[in-house]
Amino acid sequence: MRKVIQITFNNRTIVRNIALIPCLAFLILMASFKTAGVIEYKVDKVVIDAGHGGKDPGTHGLISEEKDIALKIALELGRIIKDNLKDVEVIYTRNNDTFVELDDRANMANKKDADVFISIHCNSVPRNQHLIYGTETYVMGQHTSEGNFEVTKRENSVILLEKDYEERYEGFDPKSPESLILFSLYQNAYINNSLNLADKIEHQFSKRVGRNSRGVRQAGFWVLWRTSMPSVLIEVGYLSNPKEEKYLNDELGQVYLASGIFRAFRDYKDELESNY
Ligand SMILES: [Zn+2]
Repeated sequence: MRKVIQITFNNRTIVRNIALIPCLAFLILMASFKTAGVIEYKVDKVVIDAGHGGKDPGTHGLISEEKDIALKIALELGRIIKDNLKDVEVIYTRNNDTFVELDDRANMANKKDADVFISIHCNSVPRNQHLIYGTETYVMGQHTSEGNFEVTKRENSVILLEKDYEERYEGFDPKSPESLILFSLYQNAYINNSLNLADKIEHQFSKRVGRNSRGVRQAGFWVLWRTSMPSVLIEVGYLSNPKEEKYLNDELGQVYLASGIFRAFRDYKDELESNY
């Protein structure tokens, strides 16, 4: 009798176990979905950095200052991203005419754990080279030409306007090539993705926006070095070239440039997310 009860019990256990199999399968399936969700790579947080601001006007042309154009294009880029990519959080390092120190810009991006850092600037050369015009997108690295180095020196030299800069930047000399070589090593982990995005931006400028693309370049920008994510610095044009300055001040010109950066960002995001 006891045996029979035992058998009955075992049968029930077996039946219960069989019934458990679909449940377990379902749970494993759900768990695998959950796991896939965790490892899924999303590009859904971008920091847009309008160069300069406040007491630091950046460079200037005949009718405008770099800080104002950089801000307008940055805000326009953010607006287009928010309108078209609802899953992307847009963070500005500044959204008005305020002075933000270089390492605060990078720190902000690091603290927010951003996926991409886009810094927007305008270029300039001495008056006797005013015919030079076009766009350049930089990633962190050792400069390969004197021209790139000049741009770096100008963009980095804002450090000298910051209070306590000697302590904050631990003796970093924005004009020293040795410092720049050393610092470029820190962005190495992100160099491929940074180059990928930079390529897409210059491609858009050249093929879709109709600008004169002067290509992707490498140089030692302080603001890029400090970021721990793929980062680019875009020189959207030369304020030293009167015709280009007019384009950069034109609202439609600003929308075209911002749209080009947006499409490059969107393509980069699609590409990276589809690879995972
Ligand atoms: Zn600048």
